[in-house]
Amino acid sequence: MVANLIKGKEIALALREKLAQEIAAHGDRPHLAVILVGDDEASLIYDRNKQKAAIDAGMDCDLHHLSEQTSEEEVLALIQQLNEDKNIHGVMVQLPLPKHIDARKVLDHIRPEKDVDGFTPQNAGLLSVKDERAIVSATPAGILYLLKTVHQSLAGMHAVIIGRSNIVGKPLAALLLNNDCTVTVVHSKTRNLPELTRQADILVAACGCPKMVKADWVKDGATVIDVGINRIDGKLCGDVDFDDVINKAAYITPVPGGVGPMTIAMLLENTYQAYKQSKV
Ligand code: NAD
Repeated sequence: MVANLIKGKEIALALREKLAQEIAAHGDRPHLAVILVGDDEASLIYDRNKQKAAIDAGMDCDLHHLSEQTSEEEVLALIQQLNEDKNIHGVMVQLPLPKHIDARKVLDHIRPEKDVDGFTPQNAGLLSVKDERAIVSATPAGILYLLKTVHQSLAGMHAVIIGRSNIVGKPLAALLLNNDCTVTVVHSKTRNLPELTRQADILVAACGCPKMVKADWVKDGATVIDVGINRIDGKLCGDVDFDDVINKAAYITPVPGGVGPMTIAMLLENTYQAYKQSKV
């Protein structure tokens, strides 16, 4: 068996075009503010891509690029100012933050209605009780969207998620539970990992371990979603050994061009939702 590719890049582009049409028809411009602290090269490229994607979709987007030395108080003050600005609909802070800044404190300071990354406890809580007001974290939301392009219904499927982070593993587990999957979350302390992953109808790798998932970890005909973004000798790769697993899975996302582009598309979707909610 050779797996079919789930082409996140194309799917994300189509979503962004549809969003651009909706925004143009609406005639107003949703406004996103992105905060980046420090000079991490990858984060800067990523945030510039987000800004370009937002502008292409017909939004306004400010990139607040602050120096590495910026204090926690200064970041909190900027968030406060953006929280109070009626013309700003979405606020997001690029992670990781420099070590002297408490990321949890900073994220918690974003008004839940403007938290387009869905990282505040309020949005995480709304998601876990399946309340549709939740702003769902962009990467899990993008993964669900990709899964729905290849499966009409997820009901009863066994999803195994490798990784339990607050930004990917946990919200994805809640989202898949809400979509009637049977969910197993495995992590760095899990015993007999391959034994569990081999039971997965849907296997999501989000652990940041380059090419860790091999063909013998995968059930025949499974759907494999690779969230990992790693570099080996400067070359991007995921947490799944793509060349090995492609002969075992039925569907697989590539890296790059799979989950990554969906994250940006869903962030824009979330900003548009936040904008519409602000007008209600
Ligand atoms: P994280 O470091 O916060 O969490 C990693 C999780 O994986 C932890 O829960 C840990 O217990 C688990 N883990 C680590 N090593 C493991 C092992 N050997 N076996 C089993 N579990 C293990 O990472 P994160 O922020 O959730 O990101 C995970 C990966 O996804 C990273 O490569 C990151 O770059 C990528 N990512 C991609 C996107 C995207 O848009 N494509 C978005 C977010 C994160």
